[in-house]
Amino acid sequence: MSLSESVRGGGSGRERLVVVGGDAAGMSAASRARRLKGPGELEIVAFERGHFTSYSACGIPYWVGGDVPDRDDLVARTPEEHRARGIDLRLRTEVTEIDVPGQRVRARDVDSGAESWTSYDKLVIATGARPIRPDMPGADADGVHGVQTLDDGQELIDTLTRARGRRAVVVGAGYIGVEMAEALINRGYEVTVVNRGSEPMSTLDADMGRLVHEAMEGLGITMVNDAEVTKLLTGDDGRVRAVVTDDAEYPADVVVLGLGVRPETSLAEAAGLPLGAHRGLLTDLAMRVRGHENIWAGGDCVEVLDLVSGRERHIALGTHANKHGQVIGTNVGGGYATFPGVVGTAVSKVCDLEIARTGLREKDARRAGLRFETVTVESTSRAGYYPGASPMTVKMLAERRTGRLLGVQIVGREGAAKRVDIAAVALTAGMTVEQMTALDLGYAPPFSPVWDPVLVAARKAAAKVRGD
Ligand SMILES: Cc1cc2nc3c(=O)[nH]c(=O)nc-3n(C[C@H](O)[C@H](O)[C@H](O)COP(=O)(O)OP(=O)(O)OC[C@H]3O[C@@H](n4cnc5c(N)ncnc54)[C@H](O)[C@@H]3O)c2cc1C
Repeated sequence: MSLSESVRGGGSGRERLVVVGGDAAGMSAASRARRLKGPGELEIVAFERGHFTSYSACGIPYWVGGDVPDRDDLVARTPEEHRARGIDLRLRTEVTEIDVPGQRVRARDVDSGAESWTSYDKLVIATGARPIRPDMPGADADGVHGVQTLDDGQELIDTLTRARGRRAVVVGAGYIGVEMAEALINRGYEVTVVNRGSEPMSTLDADMGRLVHEAMEGLGITMVNDAEVTKLLTGDDGRVRAVVTDDAEYPADVVVLGLGVRPETSLAEAAGLPLGAHRGLLTDLAMRVRGHENIWAGGDCVEVLDLVSGRERHIALGTHANKHGQVIGTNVGGGYATFPGVVGTAVSKVCDLEIARTGLREKDARRAGLRFETVTVESTSRAGYYPGASPMTVKMLAERRTGRLLGVQIVGREGAAKRVDIAAVALTAGMTVEQMTALDLGYAPPFSPVWDPVLVAARKAAAKVRGD
């Protein structure tokens, strides 16, 4: 087939940047590069196969649950806004091939099927992640929903609006499953969460996940742990009617899948670009794809260096994707920036229960060959005598002998989630738990006890490391 070809520069001598993927990483990179280089110097072409750009998937649970009234509230920058800033944004256009030696990409118009090649001087791959879908009967039935994109969110809302019954089953109890359980509770559904692991939130140790489990049951959510979903049953109308596990059947008018994601790197793999053990693209600190001078990658499609364990990991979070985009855009635009790595910080909530983690869990520390001490403390969010004080549990891991902080998990109510940022900073700075005990944190009775819960944990961990 002969395809049309758009040759870079068009004789003007300016460079062409091609971006694949129009959300957090891709459009941050494009916007930053545009800020540094005007249209006279740099032509920017961005391909996005969906209907939206620069949208917050993170907000989908709150939109579905009704806290955020409108889909448009989740769009940070529309296609028109990008175009007005001199970015040639091609919506509903999927890149189907990267020709690395030829420095060009093949793209297909999703609606018309028309294909063409576009050549590049610089390429940014920001294709995100692909949700894991169960390979089992009924998984594609009407009423079964993922929540990866705004289109997914809209389809789920449409189903919830039309559904005759009010029984929802969430499959998977990671943070998306937990947040979707809250959204469905808020919409008046009876919610069952079916989870393969021993406790919800496998990003926590099981003893901390247990606290989330208890709180979810307290909210009226039925938690089913250690359960493998084997099939989804459908009715005569083709709609889902139940979720079946090894030993039980859970009636469902709607099913939401929250089974995690994998890097979307099929294009990159076919192009021979380097992938890591988690199938994410491998980059250097400037987010340049290893071994490729003019190709960058960022966001959910890459692996990142875990600064605590020293290992490469795949962590699909918007906070990283936006930072990657900034770094890429700066470098592509002629500046200099690096992304050193992550310490693994993440927060979420289910109703008023806040869940936070940073650094290593016990099993991560063991896998990394570290020996460590663990403490768990119960404290309160405010001075015990101040109205509204609520319980907070902090778990802390410190390396044996050196006392280096390795990880913190916090479960509690108001103020629990963002307290983990203290530990994220301490981890980044390579502090010991002994050093943490002297941190000059703010105190007044409405905000914390005189010894903040994180400091109480640090004191206890330091004493354990010293062998007191
Ligand atoms: C329900 C939910 C809640 C979340 N909550 C949080 C949170 O609270 N905090 C947090 O930090 N993160 C959260 N995240 C994760 C966050 O949304 C992602 O990490 C972030 O969107 C990743 O950005 P990205 O640009 O790498 O990838 P994406 O946002 O996935 O964007 C990739 C884009 O590339 C497009 N694309 C892919 N392949 C092609 C192709 N071949 N051609 C053209 N276009 C292509 C896709 O259509 C997509 O729009 C949440 C995610 C979900 C789904």
